[in-house]
Amino acid sequence: MTAQSSPQPAPASTRALAPGRVNLIGEHTDYNDGFVLPFALGLGCTATVVLGGEGWVATSAQQDGEVATTTCAPSAVPGWATYVLGPIWLLADRGVDVPPMRIHVDSNVPLGAGLSSSAALVCSVVTALDEALSLGLGAEESLALSRAVENDVVGAPTGGMDQLVSLRAVEGHALFCDMRSLETSPVPFDLEAAGLAMVVIDTRAPHRHVDGEYAERRAGCEEAARVLGVPALRDVGADDLDTAMERLGEDRLQRYVRHVVTENDRVLATVDLLRGGDVAAIGPLLTASHASMRDDFAISVPEVDAAVDALLEAGALGARMTGGGFGGCVIGLLPRAGVEHAIEVVTQRFGDGGWQEPTGFLVTPGPGAHVVPD
Ligand code: ADP
Ligand code: MG
Repeated sequence: MTAQSSPQPAPASTRALAPGRVNLIGEHTDYNDGFVLPFALGLGCTATVVLGGEGWVATSAQQDGEVATTTCAPSAVPGWATYVLGPIWLLADRGVDVPPMRIHVDSNVPLGAGLSSSAALVCSVVTALDEALSLGLGAEESLALSRAVENDVVGAPTGGMDQLVSLRAVEGHALFCDMRSLETSPVPFDLEAAGLAMVVIDTRAPHRHVDGEYAERRAGCEEAARVLGVPALRDVGADDLDTAMERLGEDRLQRYVRHVVTENDRVLATVDLLRGGDVAAIGPLLTASHASMRDDFAISVPEVDAAVDALLEAGALGARMTGGGFGGCVIGLLPRAGVEHAIEVVTQRFGDGGWQEPTGFLVTPGPGAHVVPD
C-alpha cells in the first residue's frame, strides 16, 4: 500500500485592480499645491499576491523573467520590479514583518504613454498587499505608501496626482483634488448623457528629455514662488497675476507662473461647469489649457500640437495634451457621432507629417483601486 500524501491546499491569493488615469485638466499644478481634475480609466493593472514560497518574487505579464529577492535593495533589481517590490520594502522598512510571497502584475494601460501605468501598478500592489496582509491601511496611508514608492524607491519626482486618482476615483465621475490638503471630491462627468465622447490619442511621440525638462519646470516654479514670497504658486490668485508678472521680471518665470495660475483657475471653472451638468461647455477650457502648456509652459511637441489641431478641425469641442508633456497622449471632447471621423483626420495628419501612426480609443470614467474576486 502506498502512503497517500494529503492534498496541499492551494495557496490563497489576493487580487486587486487599480486604474490608469487621464487628467481632464490641471497640468503641472499638482506640485504647486494647486488643483487637478483627473479621472480613472477603464484600463488598469491587476496585482495578484500569493503568500508563501521563499523570498519576495515579482513577475509581470509585460516583462520577461521573474525577479526574486530577500533584501530591500532597489539597485539590485531591474527598474520595473522596483515598482512591484517597492511597497514591500517600504513596509519592511517600517517594521512590518512581511512574509514571503509572489506578486504577479498584468496591465492593459500603455506603458510610458502618460496614462499612468506606473501608478496603476503601484496602487494595485498596495491595495492587494493591504488585503492579503490585513494591514488596515487607511486612505491616507495607502496614498502615502504609493507615493513613496514612486518618489523614494523608484526616484520619479511625480506630484502625487496619479496615485490619488488611482486609489480614490469614483465611476462616472472626475476627481477634483486639492493637492495641498489632499482632499478629493467626485464631480459628475456623464459623457453619455451629454451625447459626447472623450477620445484619447496616444501620439506615440518619443518622450524627449522628459526627466530633465520636468525637473527644470518644477525648479522654475519653486524659484518663482520664492521670488514672490509665497509658499507655493497655489497662493498666487488670478487677480494677483499682473503684480506677480512685474515682480518676476524674467520672461521664463513669468510664463511658468502664468500657466500655473491660469490653469488652477481653469480647473475651478471646469468643476463649476460639470457640477452644473454642462459637459459641452468645458471644451474651450481644455483648448485654452493646451495653448497655455504650449506657449507659456513650453512642454508640447509638434506631434501633440498636430493631434490637438486635427481634433479641433474635425469638430472637437475642446482638446489638450494630458500628462506631464513632451509627447504622450492628447484628449478630445467630441460629439459621439464625430469620433471615427476625428480619429481618421488625426491619423491622416500623422501620415502627412511622416510620424508613427497614432492610436485612438474612447474612455469613460471608471472606479478607483479595489480588491477583485480571484
Ligand atoms: P506612465 O506612468 O505614464 O505609463 P512611467 O514612466 O511613469 O510612465 O511608468 C512606466 C514604467 O512603469 C515602465 O517603464 C515600467 O517600468 C513600469 N510599469 C508600468 N506597468 C508595468 C507592468 N505592467 N509591468 C512591469 N512594469 C510596469
Ligand atoms: Mg507614471
